[in-house]
Amino acid sequence: MKAATLDGRDTNLEQSSIDALKMSLRGVMYFPGDAGYEESRTLWNSMTNKRPAFVIRCLGVSDVIKCVNFARANNLLLSIKGGGHNIAGLAAADGAMMLDMSLMRGVWVDPKNKIAYSEAGCLLGDVDRETQVFGLATVLGFVSLTGITGLTLGGGFGYLTRRWGWTSDNVIGMNVVTAEGKLVRANEKENPELFWALRGGGGNFGVVTGIEYKLYDIGPEVTGGIVAWPASEAPKVLELYRELSSKAPAELTLVSIMRPAPPAPWLPQEIHGKTMVAILACYTGKSEDAEKMIEQIKSFGSPVGDVLVKRPYVQLQSMLDATQPKGRRYYWKSEYLPGIEPALCEKVIENASKICSPHSGIILFQIGGALNELSEDHSPVGNRDAKYVINIGGSWEHEADDSINIEWARNTWNSTKEFSTGGNYINFLTEDESEERIHAALGNSVKRLSEVKKKWDPENFFRVNRNVKPA
Ligand SMILES: Cc1cc2nc3c(=O)[nH]c(=O)nc-3n(C[C@H](O)[C@H](O)[C@H](O)COP(=O)(O)OP(=O)(O)OC[C@H]3O[C@@H](n4cnc5c(N)ncnc54)[C@H](O)[C@@H]3O)c2cc1C
Repeated sequence: MKAATLDGRDTNLEQSSIDALKMSLRGVMYFPGDAGYEESRTLWNSMTNKRPAFVIRCLGVSDVIKCVNFARANNLLLSIKGGGHNIAGLAAADGAMMLDMSLMRGVWVDPKNKIAYSEAGCLLGDVDRETQVFGLATVLGFVSLTGITGLTLGGGFGYLTRRWGWTSDNVIGMNVVTAEGKLVRANEKENPELFWALRGGGGNFGVVTGIEYKLYDIGPEVTGGIVAWPASEAPKVLELYRELSSKAPAELTLVSIMRPAPPAPWLPQEIHGKTMVAILACYTGKSEDAEKMIEQIKSFGSPVGDVLVKRPYVQLQSMLDATQPKGRRYYWKSEYLPGIEPALCEKVIENASKICSPHSGIILFQIGGALNELSEDHSPVGNRDAKYVINIGGSWEHEADDSINIEWARNTWNSTKEFSTGGNYINFLTEDESEERIHAALGNSVKRLSEVKKKWDPENFFRVNRNVKPA
């Protein structure tokens, strides 16, 4: 069987060695033609279409170790799939041996010490559901089908970021299989430099097999949801968003969205397909204060839809899932913002009127708070000056529409990037992004990351990622 080597050539693997690996595993192996192969290799963004040589769905640390040793012994290119949600398709590569972690989805919660240990194939919803049994949660993202590991290795933000920082700021430790095929622990005491690097430096240092997170008291009910108005109200609604978010306590996170209204049951048919402006809110403070926190949003003008209510936290965490299905074509441009300028709101409105797909949108996420309080070198995620994220999210169905949608996203980015802090989120970077933008995302951490890489992966074995070369 043919497979790609680390230096980009083809190698022929003996069938007997593949069979021996297969026999030794607890998990399963898939080859081109198998249904499982197609399911594993297809990623969230169908703009990326890679064909690995074969796939292994690992079932435990021993499988991961055997696979790393096999890949290294045969000089094979190795890719690692968590949730497969990376927009740049970093979970797969042509001809590679792909480790798909999706069978490793156990979550163990220690409610007394408020810690959750989650296996690396977990999706966000797995962790939320298990921790919410105890009214606990860690900082995770907005779409429950995203993988925890890719998200955490790149930083991670969501509704709880304002209170407790990046997801990676809430990691207590990780278990990692290194390029040498050894299982090591990385935390403040054991391998602290590796621990530092893993909290933002991506999949450069090994195969993460599990992550231990700090948990906090949340819900199980919170006040959250969305209120929408027609685009004609956007100047006033975005001004409201600007004002409320600048004063909001850390327990309240506000997100604004401009996009064509989806055919959702909570929106009247007359607005479907027309541009709307919406505010998404999540309040996790004392329930007696919740109404006061959201009343200005709910009573503003004449909304066309309002589902901002008390609801289970896990429900809120999956509310946006249907808007981001696997298999569509996606192209994003994104920046961190130090604040929201009125002139930025004007640009958002102007560019939202030019959206050329029913699924695209411009989102402003509020993240300022706890993350701003840690030092820049706390972890490679850096960007401790970021208060908001703008994501220009192009999303459409057919390849024939690629250029028009990509052009819209790039034009919108060009007209809004002057408002950026200069930094951007590494996990939102598309396949075509330059080295310069990757460095802008990692800030001053690149040199220190390459030192850690030199120690833990001097041959650059883990290279299917936002690659940091060994020093
Ligand atoms: C619909 C959608 C919503 C999103 N929302 C948010 C959000 O709210 N907040 C946020 O912060 N981000 C968000 N993201 C971005 C998200 O953080 C990244 O896409 C992230 O890469 C997803 O992780 P994954 O495990 O699904 O990725 P994958 O595509 O599986 O992997 C991405 C990278 O992580 C590495 N990796 C994965 N697993 C391992 C492992 N076990 N060991 C070592 N390396 C590994 C891979 O090698 C690869 O380089 C969102 C993305 C999507 C598509």
